[in-house]
Amino acid sequence: MTRIAFIGLGNMGGGMAANLAKAGHDVRAFDLSQDALDRAKAAGCLPMASVGEAADGAEAVVTMLPAGTHVEAVYGDLFAASLSPAAILIDCSTIDVATAKRVTEAARAKGITAVDAPVSGGIGAANAGTLTFMVGGSEEAFGRAQPILAAMGKAVIHAGANGTGQAAKIANNMLLGATMVATCEAFLLAEKLGLDPQTFFDISSVSSGQSWSMTSYCPVPGVGPNTPADHGYQGGFATALMLKDLKLAAAAASDTGADTPMGAKAAELYQRFAEAGHGGLDFSAIITALRG
Ligand code: NAD
Repeated sequence: MTRIAFIGLGNMGGGMAANLAKAGHDVRAFDLSQDALDRAKAAGCLPMASVGEAADGAEAVVTMLPAGTHVEAVYGDLFAASLSPAAILIDCSTIDVATAKRVTEAARAKGITAVDAPVSGGIGAANAGTLTFMVGGSEEAFGRAQPILAAMGKAVIHAGANGTGQAAKIANNMLLGATMVATCEAFLLAEKLGLDPQTFFDISSVSSGQSWSMTSYCPVPGVGPNTPADHGYQGGFATALMLKDLKLAAAAASDTGADTPMGAKAAELYQRFAEAGHGGLDFSAIITALRG
């Protein structure tokens, strides 16, 4: 049993903290939302009154926060608190690579080990404990984080040095955004050419156009597996979050001089869709905008 401080008990963090408690860990949970704290308590975590209180005596601190600014603020609170230098900091939020490197460097300066460990898989996977973690940090740090992450996921993969977990995450999600848009376009073109969507799915899902967006997350209602398309595009992975990740990818591409025209086009389309008031819909709903 490890004493773990868990900060950020939202859509994702709530289920993740519950799975750590279920695995027998002593989970000290904190969130700014009282509702989230109440849910964590019901799931077997011990609710705490502040970041510092949760971190007191913790052997590991897991954070699952919206963006880099929140992570930087919480890490500031952690460094100001009586956090043991023997504790490991595991940030599972999706944030920009530069902030991820900055906070792990700030931790290192205090003699504290930190890893970036963003996740793939949505709220369902967070609740079921079947997330994929991509971890940036030293071999030694990965070895320490691995058993904790394994209690919340089906795969824990070492990406490389600090920051590479976030790099893998934003590159993956840029690919996901672009393939989703392309999959929607292909369905619409096939439809205009007189193909039944189910027939196109049956052909393309076993042909060279196949992708996860097609086979596992089909954007057309009633076609393929059960997806948010079958539920009015509710739940799933929000357009606003996809847009956030595409913007992180665009910023990283600009910083590094990488040419990512498909990622940029996907970002532009999702920006327009979010501005039209659809930020809360699942990202596969972009097909409704392309349909016009
Ligand atoms: P969320 O907004 O539901 O949860 C974030 C939680 O952090 C909230 O409960 C909020 O109150 C809390 N918080 C914010 N600032 C805090 C502070 N200073 N101290 C304590 N708590 C604080 O977001 P989410 O959907 O759980 O996503 C979390 C992260 O996971 C994001 O970076 C997101 O991009 C990433 N992610 C989300 C999904 C998904 O499907 N939702 C999938 C993969 C990755």
